[in-house]
Amino acid sequence: MVAGGVGEGDSYGGYRTRLVETLQSKGVRDLSVLRAIQMVPRHLFVPESVRHRAYDDAALPIGSGQTISQPYVQARYLELIGLTGQEKVLEIGTGSGYQTALLSLVASMVFSVERVAGLAQSARTALATAGIRNVTVLVGDGSLGWRPFAPYDAILVSAASPEVPAPLVDQLAPGGRMVIPLGDRSSQVLTLVERLADGVRTSTIADVRFVPLVGEFGFRQE
Ligand code: SAH
Repeated sequence: MVAGGVGEGDSYGGYRTRLVETLQSKGVRDLSVLRAIQMVPRHLFVPESVRHRAYDDAALPIGSGQTISQPYVQARYLELIGLTGQEKVLEIGTGSGYQTALLSLVASMVFSVERVAGLAQSARTALATAGIRNVTVLVGDGSLGWRPFAPYDAILVSAASPEVPAPLVDQLAPGGRMVIPLGDRSSQVLTLVERLADGVRTSTIADVRFVPLVGEFGFRQE
């Protein structure tokens, strides 16, 4: 399924196993999430210049002033939205495409929106090289969501917003879950938003630091 993933004999398998162990030691328990980390060749999603650090539990620069998030934070995201493998998911902020790849293994269908066209294109290439097919990368302002394929069972926002963008709440299915970092440009709180029959429930999870969501319902300018 995932070329270069576990069992495919690429030379990075041992590094991925060590990364999985690191995440377990930090408290990640969800087996489908740990399996996805073991499977996805993260080195395909980072630039050549930082490839030797691809399996560190660290955020890394990916160009255009953006970063690939720390694997621990990405694993926590996936645990929080608690997918069963059946869901249609919207991701905002494709970046490198690594989180998209993890999502593709724990959901049924993934739509991912990125505002920087060059990043979207390299993410598409990396996803195709990894043999991942149940993903569509779109270019646009993800603070508006992506209405044509709504509603979504889960929405994962990997850029920081001052507040929850209203279109994203609209596009979340009843019972759906969204994770989003909320705050100012320098620090945020990872927040879980659940859509209930009679409104939304929000819970705060942990302090995080993401690049800004730049768009109509995010930060207005860089
Ligand atoms: N999950 C990503 C991390 C991406 S960093 C990874 O694994 O690599 C956040 C990304 O959000 C950046 O690529 C940035 O360009 C993008 N972004 C910022 N504002 C956006 C918007 N309004 N719509 C879509 N993408 C946006």
